[in-house]
Amino acid sequence: MLSECTLKLIITEPAPMETINSALRRHYLNAYNWGKFFITLTKSFLSLFYPKLCVICGEPLVEGEDFFCLHCFLNLPKTNYHLTKDNLAFDRFLGKVPIEKAASYLYYNKAGMGQKLVAEIKYRGNIYLGKWLGQYVAKDFQKSGFFEGIDYLIPVPLHPQKYKKRGFNQSEIIAQGITDVSHIPLETRNLYRTKANTSQTRKGVYERWLNTTGNFKIKDKQLFAGKHVLLIDDVLTTGSTLEACIICLLETPGIKISLLTIAIA
Ligand SMILES: [Zn+2]
Repeated sequence: MLSECTLKLIITEPAPMETINSALRRHYLNAYNWGKFFITLTKSFLSLFYPKLCVICGEPLVEGEDFFCLHCFLNLPKTNYHLTKDNLAFDRFLGKVPIEKAASYLYYNKAGMGQKLVAEIKYRGNIYLGKWLGQYVAKDFQKSGFFEGIDYLIPVPLHPQKYKKRGFNQSEIIAQGITDVSHIPLETRNLYRTKANTSQTRKGVYERWLNTTGNFKIKDKQLFAGKHVLLIDDVLTTGSTLEACIICLLETPGIKISLLTIAIA
């Protein structure tokens, strides 16, 4: 026979739901904190052998620095073109194609900071830097009202073959960063490249123009009708690729076109 006392022990009151929830929450929180602690510990351990380096000067970064060391960050060769309509980026298209405004963020000196940044994104595939740079540029440009009236962001498209080979379009990555900050819709399908042009690096102005002209097409001309679009590219050199895009976009009735590039050579 079970005594009354034993029965009381067996038939115990179930724990209130609130107590179970808070115990579970505490349990998961502990596990989460331990997980975070473990990740930080692993990262710190790995950084002893593989320290993060400044993408420009190659010096090891310290806690709180991302992509650049403070020295390089403070010495970025900014053009401030977005503060004035009459600038060298805008002048490059004068008398060729009608544009509303144009701005490049950095000077692209050979072996300089601008070139290293663009190369890190384009050739070393640092898409995190590309997106971060797009966001950083957009924050600066937004203060001066550069994005006012813009309806769409259009990154200069890559030919599908080149996209497949590289795995990403550097202009699109930069544009993603810009859309994050400006909230202007990104349009990547309407303007497309029909011909993969050969490398432009060793070509002159006329050869570059021949190499790019007629390489772009629009799927739906009505989508950009009466809209102000902002074409985005990594570097502005002779402007032949952007000019070919503009000529194609001008088939759209009532379109207004502006340009933004990360660097100008
Ligand atoms: Zn540095």
